[in-house]
Amino acid sequence: MPEFTLAPLPYAYDALEPIIDKETMMLHHDKHHLAYVNGLNAGLKDHADLQNRTVEELLKGINSLPEAVRTPVRNHGGGHYNHNLYWEIMRPGGAKEPTGALAEAINATFGNLENLKTQVNDAGMKRFGSGWSWLVVDNGKLLVISTANQDCPLMDNQVPILGVDVWEHAYYLKYRNLRADYLKAWWNVVNWDEVAKRFAAVK
Ligand code: MN
Repeated sequence: MPEFTLAPLPYAYDALEPIIDKETMMLHHDKHHLAYVNGLNAGLKDHADLQNRTVEELLKGINSLPEAVRTPVRNHGGGHYNHNLYWEIMRPGGAKEPTGALAEAINATFGNLENLKTQVNDAGMKRFGSGWSWLVVDNGKLLVISTANQDCPLMDNQVPILGVDVWEHAYYLKYRNLRADYLKAWWNVVNWDEVAKRFAAVK
């Protein structure tokens, strides 16, 4: 039976230093993300008919899934999808800002890039406990939202194109309790090419 698997990080564990330290990346990917993959496989083990679906399909269609698999798909399927996106929309030494159609849409919606960063960081700061802050495409429009736990915007028909993990496991070793410092620094490792690619794919 097909199983969901954990892909390797698209760069070395220490590639995002000094913004995100190697130990955080190792624990976050090899322990936390792996636990979501394992949890998703466990949740689907008695549902052979669902095992060929992609994680995107499972999340988008969560309301039509059997009751028994909704919680594992929400928590572990969301965790798997969200972390794949997070690894991919980061990179070392990327462009400092978006260009092209994405830049135009950000400027048209938020005024400028700084305002977008402020909204994403504010949403991340206001998320009490664990969750994510996102830039999503909602009915063709850019929007900043946050979700609790591993809830994924796909469950609400929103397509995430950028997301920052604000669970303490994402930052606590280096930034301790200072979530705001992590959020501010995090923009230095955003892979704008990947965000633009995801934006273009929604259109
Ligand atoms: Mn995480």
